[in-house]
This record gives sequence, structure tokens and C-alpha cells, in this order.
Amino acid sequence: MKFTELRTWLNHLQKTKRIAVIKKGCDLKHRLAAIAKNLDGQQAAYFQNPQGFDMPVISGFMSKRSWIAEAMGIKEDELLPTFRHAADNPLPWNDIGTNPAPCQEIVIQHPDLQTLLPIPTHSEYDYGPYITAGLVIAKNPTTGKQNVSINRIQLHANGRLGILMLPRHLFAFFKQAEKNNQALDVAIVIGVDPLTLLASQAIAPLDHDELEIAGALHGKPLDVVKCKNSEIRVPANAEIVIEGKILPHERELEGPFGEFPKYYSARESREVIQVDLLTHRKNPLFHTIIPAEMEHLLLGAIPRESTLLSHLQRSFQGVMDVHLSMGGVARYHLYVKLKKSHEGQPKNVIMAAFGAHYDVKQVIVVDEDVDVHQPQEVEWAVATRFQAHRDLLVIEGAQGSILDPSTTVEWMKEGGELVPPYQQGLSSKMGLDATRPMNYQEHVFTRVRIPGEDTIDLRQEIEPNTQIQFN
Ligand code: MN
Repeated sequence: MKFTELRTWLNHLQKTKRIAVIKKGCDLKHRLAAIAKNLDGQQAAYFQNPQGFDMPVISGFMSKRSWIAEAMGIKEDELLPTFRHAADNPLPWNDIGTNPAPCQEIVIQHPDLQTLLPIPTHSEYDYGPYITAGLVIAKNPTTGKQNVSINRIQLHANGRLGILMLPRHLFAFFKQAEKNNQALDVAIVIGVDPLTLLASQAIAPLDHDELEIAGALHGKPLDVVKCKNSEIRVPANAEIVIEGKILPHERELEGPFGEFPKYYSARESREVIQVDLLTHRKNPLFHTIIPAEMEHLLLGAIPRESTLLSHLQRSFQGVMDVHLSMGGVARYHLYVKLKKSHEGQPKNVIMAAFGAHYDVKQVIVVDEDVDVHQPQEVEWAVATRFQAHRDLLVIEGAQGSILDPSTTVEWMKEGGELVPPYQQGLSSKMGLDATRPMNYQEHVFTRVRIPGEDTIDLRQEIEPNTQIQFN
């Protein structure tokens, strides 16, 4: 069974004791995020009436790999191929036209978001409240195709919103609009079903609408409705939609904000959204993602792994599986399982992985007997199959993630003047070939196992109620 509705998924989690209902009145500043972080990966958190708001906050309903597979109605080892199939076979959405859309049951003109929405302040040095689970939907001004991305959104004191756009599709749309002195219409959608949330993170080419990938994951076209003030189509069953526009030639200070690498990004001048309208369901749910915790990391990891696997398999038949480790913040460290057919192949795989996404900073290639989803297994392969003088590949000065603080250049010289440190995303790449030789003397690289270890049923072996006196 697939879960194509947020509320159905939450009911399912509740029935299986995976939602913790938090006492009324939880402080939105830090306390809410602290509680959700403590429950991370074990239970979703449901905050009733946080800080006097009627609107509840939900967090962490996608915080385990196995839960994501469950929401998709598949086994965990089918996650990457299933996501890839959806990304390759998008389903055009179904516009419900003038039929009533749940997400527009309530319409509020010129809303004051501060008093209407329970927006939490998450980390210690965050400048203030942030919307962290808002799907930002915009249209390509040239082609009219939509794009969906999750961007961090700061609530400014004047009711406007600050937004961080990385150099991807939304940013390209805005740059086009700004060049023509035009604002870019956007919709910020909060509270969508698990599969649409996952689809929003697809690493798809420009003009591939992530809502069509959501439809493919659902197995049926996604119902969408036109925004009240723009031509943007939003998921009809969403909880909350903020309509507005990114203003041309306007910048305001945004940040600091604690990001996925578990560090803060600096306070800088960034783009500004003017809010025009708020629509929502009756009794809406406000979703917040706790930065750098499992829900945040996994939503990024699975679509990326799926793209990286597909990219590598195009050139290397022997690539069997990939994993972006959680310690590598689900972005920077990639483990590749390879059945190699040439001694030099792991290094080719490493170079291809660096080219597949600029965030990838370290690649470890292991053999087919190593489980890439278990960091301890990968470390064992490095410990016993890798020799640095022979198996290490280092590339200097490549493009990396600007959110990786180790790419910071301290006190750069600019025209003879020293300027403060800044992050430029210039990164070294490291590849480790931790595969054993294809031909080896018997026993040298044969993994120790005990006959029967996989088939023992301890219930048949242990006496349940026998006490021994160790005198
Ligand atoms: Mn896109």
C-alpha cells in the first residue's frame, strides 16, 4: 500500500505508536525543535497548540529509511530503483479546475504570518523563526514549466520572507525574471504527503516538474489546483499555501541559520519574498523539518543516491548499490558497491562520482560482499583492503559545497586588501579504492564466517527460564 495523503500516513504512524503527542503550550523558540530532535528517528512529534496557537506542528514523519520505503509501499532495498523509475517516468498532474481544493478551504488576504502560523525558531544562533519544510513552487518564465524545491525561509520582522536559493532551477527562474525587472511568482506549500515531499528533492534536469515525479510515485496523476493570485499549480491536498513573489532588485539580510552540515551559514544579503495571500485547509497542520536531523538528511539522501546510482550504472555495469552516509551529512561522502571487472575500474568509478554531483567530496568503493548501508562495514573494507600509496586518489581545487565550512578561505587577499574569511566552495576530492584484488591467494581475502551463523534460531537454542547458580 502507498500513502498518498499526509493525514492517512500520520494515522498509520499513530496506529503503530510512532507519533509522540507533546503537551500543549510548547515554546516555539528552541524547545519545540529540542523535543523533536530527541525523538528523531524513533517517533514523529505532534505538538498540540504550541505557544498558544490553534494550529498544531508536526515533525519527523519521514525520519527513517524504512518508514520512507513503507510510505512508498515497497521494501527498503527497492528505494533507489523505485525512485529512479518515477524520476524517469513522470506523470503529468491532474488540474482539478474549479472544483474545491482542500488547500484553499480558507483564504486570507494580506496575512500576518507571525500571528497565523506557528513558525519555530530551531537552532541556538538562528536569527529567528524559519519555515524549513516549505516546498517553493515557481514557473520557468520562458517555458512555463514548474519547479519544486525546499528552500529555507526566514520570517523578517516586516512580514516579508527571506529566502536562500542555491544556484539551481528556482534561482535560474528568478534571475531571468529579475533581468526583465519582474517579480517571480512563488507558492510556498507546507504540509504535503510523504511521497510529494520526497519527490520535491529529486535531482532532475531543468524543466522536469517534481510534482510530476510525485504523481509517478503515487502511481496516479497528482491533483493540483491553480493558485488564487498566479498561474502556479499546487498540490490540492496540501495543508497550507503561502502565495507571494520574489521581488526584483530587493535584498535583505538573512541568516544566520543552522544548516544540514550542522554548521551555521552567515548573515548575508539575500532575496526577499513579498507575501500576498495565505490559503489553508480547515484545521491545518504545520510541518517543520529539524535542520540536520534524520528527516532533513534522508529526504536529501534518497533522491540523490538514486540519481548517483543511475549515473554510475550508465557507465559501469558492475555498480550494484550506493549510499550517502549520515556522518557525511547525506551529501558529501558516497559509498559505492562494485563488482569490479578490471583492477583500475574503482578509480574510474570514483572520478565518475565526482562528476555526478559537486557536493560529493569523498568516494569509497568497496566489493560486492560489503554492505554500503553499514558505515562499520565500509570502515572494515578500508582497514583491510586499502593502501594509501596505491589506492588513494586526491583532486585539488574542484567545485564543492559552499555550505562545507572547510572550503572557507581564511583572510583572502582582494586587490591587495585582506578581506574576512568567506566560503567559496573550492574543495578537494578524495577517492578510496577499498576493493580487494580480483585474484588473490585463498584465505588472504576470504571473509571469516561461521557455518550456521545466518540460520541459527536462538528461540530454539536458549532455555527461557533456567537460572544457573555461579557459586
Ligand atoms: Mn528542479
